[in-house]
Amino acid sequence: MSTSNPSQSPRVDAGRSAHDSPRLLVLARPTLDQAAIQTFLDDEGLAWRRTPTATDPENLVEVAGRVCYLSFGRQQSDKTNAEYISHLVREQHESVLEHATWSFILSGISRGFSHQLVRHRVGFSFSQLSQQYHDETEAPLVMPRAIREIPSASEKWHAAAEKSLDTYRELIGELEEIQTDLPPREQLRLLRTAARSVLPAATETKLVFSANGRALRHFLQVRGTIEGDEEMRLVSALLARIMQEEAPALFADFRVEHLSDGLPVVRQSSASH
Ligand SMILES: Cc1cc2nc3c(=O)[nH]c(=O)nc-3n(C[C@H](O)[C@H](O)[C@H](O)COP(=O)(O)OP(=O)(O)OC[C@H]3O[C@@H](n4cnc5c(N)ncnc54)[C@H](O)[C@@H]3O)c2cc1C
Repeated sequence: MSTSNPSQSPRVDAGRSAHDSPRLLVLARPTLDQAAIQTFLDDEGLAWRRTPTATDPENLVEVAGRVCYLSFGRQQSDKTNAEYISHLVREQHESVLEHATWSFILSGISRGFSHQLVRHRVGFSFSQLSQQYHDETEAPLVMPRAIREIPSASEKWHAAAEKSLDTYRELIGELEEIQTDLPPREQLRLLRTAARSVLPAATETKLVFSANGRALRHFLQVRGTIEGDEEMRLVSALLARIMQEEAPALFADFRVEHLSDGLPVVRQSSASH
């Protein structure tokens, strides 16, 4: 295992410049309504001893857990927020993690990768760049690092990818000549849908996704350490690092390591299971 910085995921821009690795940004995060919690506590005649450093999502999860047992005031143990959440996870009382939801914008990834990502059905929502509404004639391409490292493979990849994009452009031109009774918007959809069938899996895409804490943990568990999957490792590491800033108590059992190839993997310590 090495601790060197992760290599960037190579990316080829067919038409315009852009960043050359997956980019993941948080668009929205949970905000706790302090007044609402206080109103509830006052109504119930309860007090809640909080961990001063806990973030809003961590406090939200703690409140949800404590409401289950009404473990406020005299019923509250000395556990910190992190200890409380770690206990919930150990006990597999993980539905409380579902209350905390984040929204992200992810770009610089291939369509091949996004197809794997959107397989996560539970606790995830997706909104992805459309190849029916969006013109892909200038679409950037994401080149796998394994190919970049071998000049002859890289050359073949470039040739094939550029040929696909050229064919896409030519098909758009030819299909524009088709006469149909469709309204213009549907005519455009028809030709882009037909032409996109030659676009490579390397075509860059962007998407917004939202996911709750439990779903994000599941994603990191099943996807974070797939050593042969460069993009998955890069995105998982970005996600793990972000979540450890956003809600460290929910993701304390994950760690990002770097393998000898310079790329990160996300591992989970067994202690939390
Ligand atoms: C190493 C690896 C190889 C893979 N190879 C392939 C492949 O060759 N072909 C392929 O099609 N996919 C493949 N996948 C995708 C995989 O099958 C899942 O679709 C994907 O990882 C999403 O995982 P999930 O179903 O656990 O997640 P989610 O869809 O988010 O579901 C989360 C959890 O909810 C529960 N759940 C969800 N839906 C149901 C249900 N209908 N019934 C019962 N429980 C449910 C399960 O506990 C599940 O783990 C692979 C995944 C990995 C990690």
